[in-house]
Order: sequence, then structure tokens, then C-alpha cells
Amino acid sequence: MGQVISIMAPRVLFTTIYRKGPEPYDYIGANTRSWFRYYWPRIQSFGLRFLKQNIPELEILEFPTWEEYQKKLQEGWDVVGLSFYLSETHEAIEMVDAARSAGVGEVWAGNYGALTTAIQDRFDKVFVGYSEHQLAPYFGRQIKDIIHPPLIEYLNTPINVKLNIYGVLFTTRGCPVGCKFCQTPVFCNKPNIISLKSIERVLAYYKENGINVVLIEDENFGCNRRHADEVVKLLDKYGMVWGCMARADYLRKKIDDWAEMRRKNGRHIAGFGGAAIGIENLHQERLDDIKKKEGTEDILDTIRKLQKYGLGTVGYYMIGFEEDTIESLKVDIPKLAALKIDITQICVITPLPQTPLWKEIEEKYGIWDHDYHNHDGKHMVWNHPNIPSEEFPKILDWSFKQTYSWYTPIRTSGRVWGNAYRYGGLSGVREVAAYISRANKFDWNQGLRLLKVDEE
Ligand code: SF4
Repeated sequence: MGQVISIMAPRVLFTTIYRKGPEPYDYIGANTRSWFRYYWPRIQSFGLRFLKQNIPELEILEFPTWEEYQKKLQEGWDVVGLSFYLSETHEAIEMVDAARSAGVGEVWAGNYGALTTAIQDRFDKVFVGYSEHQLAPYFGRQIKDIIHPPLIEYLNTPINVKLNIYGVLFTTRGCPVGCKFCQTPVFCNKPNIISLKSIERVLAYYKENGINVVLIEDENFGCNRRHADEVVKLLDKYGMVWGCMARADYLRKKIDDWAEMRRKNGRHIAGFGGAAIGIENLHQERLDDIKKKEGTEDILDTIRKLQKYGLGTVGYYMIGFEEDTIESLKVDIPKLAALKIDITQICVITPLPQTPLWKEIEEKYGIWDHDYHNHDGKHMVWNHPNIPSEEFPKILDWSFKQTYSWYTPIRTSGRVWGNAYRYGGLSGVREVAAYISRANKFDWNQGLRLLKVDEE
């Protein structure tokens, strides 16, 4: 909870990068090539909402058009802060230049894009990690307990009928594991724990607003096991259907317990609904090389276990390891598709600034592509020893078609409805039907929703 010490607060605007078209980034669209698919659009910036919820004095802009951004700059700001990702670097720099031309006092950088050392000198200040505590003193505040803002998203269809509405939850932010390719430990290697009080407050808000589905988007749910156990109890108390992003080694030990918890509840279909797991690769030696510290067989076993209970699965996979060849991928990708995962995210290995992998690739092979738009996990930006860069778009297209064909969303829907019946009988089926009506009745135009929390 924040405490205000009386000083004149500076005028600070934090913004994401500007959007170029009406379509926001769509996660499923970025990882499929199927004409029939669901949509999972990015409609808000989680990081900026955390900041606004905890430091109400600052203003935020989410995905403005260029014109909206320009207009906003004319209002006069002491500081403009840009929150961006690596592939958005060029747009961020354009926005820096526009802010300076508009006479803004200082321009700051935050989010993962700020880790790119090559562009850090374009900013007056660079914030690394989750910045509520670092920023609060600028506004004469002290933050004792981070307040979790409401973060509400939906799953859409091509005909604009929303299928589901869910609340996003962060229980810890950051990860200490240190996989060689991952920027999270560079961004924040000591996980910040969101207090149970704060988590319960936002769960209560979701419930009051008819939202019964919660997605835990921690990079590594369960990295603090005791805290995770308490969070699961809270989710159970509020009767939520929930899923999480977690490592297979943690999940494997928990799936049976969570499934049993759900069975014992006998309460419609509330309980654990599925998980997103980093498979990364099907070859153990490649997992060892990237310091994943997990066994391939154990990861696959975890996926099978989730599927045994009819639970949802999202799998993250990488191609473009130095040993990969076109022929080896032709063998691996069909094996990946055979796992029948609901959504398979396939990324081309991209050296991310300040990670051990970046240094290794830069020294050994060299990064040739300096257009940051291509540093998005979908292009080969370094000199791969066996596969020319121009082959990767074709390989990705083919891989997405293998892992997500037109019937994949139908298979997923069948699983969801079947599971609802399996766990909740007819009332379970009614509950899933209610998701659709709730998602479409929800007032999506209400804009920035924040919690009202009394100052203590
Ligand atoms: S890949 Fe996952 S487990 Fe590994 S460092 Fe990143 S967040 Fe942590």
C-alpha cells in the first residue's frame, strides 16, 4: 500500500509503443498459419497497469496510434517512459525522437526492450526489472505491498463471438533458474512475491465481476513452492478454474494432487484446468546445452499426465539449435505435432541481449541482422551453420501447419466441453456455456480498470 509524502509530483507519461493498424498483437495468430483459429489479442500492458495501480499519479497510454501519441505529447510532460520489447526497438526510438522534439524533460526506458545495451544511451534513464519500488520515490511515495491490478482478457473467434473471459494473475514476477537463452533472469532474477492479501483482493474483484477463470502468467509458477501452494488454496476458495505457466519438474509432482482436489470439490468444474510448459526441444543434449536443467522424458511425461486428466496444454518449442538441419527438423516437428498440444509456440532461437546465449552466438557465429523487427523469435538473425536464414520462414510456416491445423481448435473445444461434462456433468456444460455469454456481455469499453484500495 502506498504512502504519499507531500512533494510536487512530476508529470509523467508511460506508454507502450504505438500501434500501426487496428489489429493488436494476437498470440495465437503469431503461432499458427491456420485460416480457422481462435484469437488471443494483447489488449493491455500488464506492466503499465501494475505501475498505474500502485502509483496513480502517473499516466499511461496503451498501444496508441502515432497521432494519439503525438497529441498526448503536446500536453507537456516532465518525463515520458517507454515500455517496449526487443522487436519494437525501432518504434521506441521513433517515439524517443518525437518526445525530445516535443520538449519533454527526460525520456526513460523500461520492460525487456530496455535490456538492449546498444540503445540504452538513447534514454536518460533505464529501468531494469519491475519498477514500482524504484519509481515510487519520484512521486513522494513508498510502496509497502504491491497492489495487483485487474487484468482482464478474452479469447475471440473469427466471427467476433468471444468464447471466454479470464482474469490474469501474477503471483511472483521474475525467475532465478538461469536458462542460457532466457532474458527473465537478466530482467529480474530474484522473484518478487505478490502478497496473498493482494492476490485475494484481485481474485475477489474477478469473482464480483463474474470472472471464474484465472490464468497465472508468472514465468515460473511454483518457483516459490510454499507461496504457490497458498495461492492454489485461494483459487480453490474462490471456486476458480485456473491454469498456469510452470516448469514441468514442478507440475509433475502437483498434477495428481490438483486433479484430486478438483474431484473432491465436486463443485462444477472449478479447479486446475491446464498449463503452459517449456518443452524447448526434444533432444536431451540440447536441453543440457541451454541449461534447462530438466529431462526431455520428464517434460513429455508431464504433458501426457495433463492430457490424461483432459487438461489444457500450451508448449513452447525452439528451432535453430546449431545442430539442427532441415532434415533433422523434418523428423522432429512431426514428433512435436504428435503430442497434440492445444497451442504450440515455436520460436527460432534469437540471441537476447545480456543473456549468456547472446554472447556465445555473437562470438561463435556473429549476428548479421540488425533490424530489430526480426528479433522476434520468428526469424534467424545470426549465421546458422547448417540452415540459411531465408529458409526459416518456410520452415516455420510448415511447422505451424503441422502443429496447428484447422481442426486443432475443434479438438481443443471438444476437450473443454468433454472435460466440463466429465467433472461437472450437465452443470459443468452449462458453466462452460456461461463463459460465452459472460465474455460477450462484459463491458469491454470501460477502459482502464483499477482497484479502489483505501490508503492505510
Ligand atoms: S526459461 Fe523459464 S525457468 Fe528458464 S530462466 Fe526463463 S523463466 Fe526461468
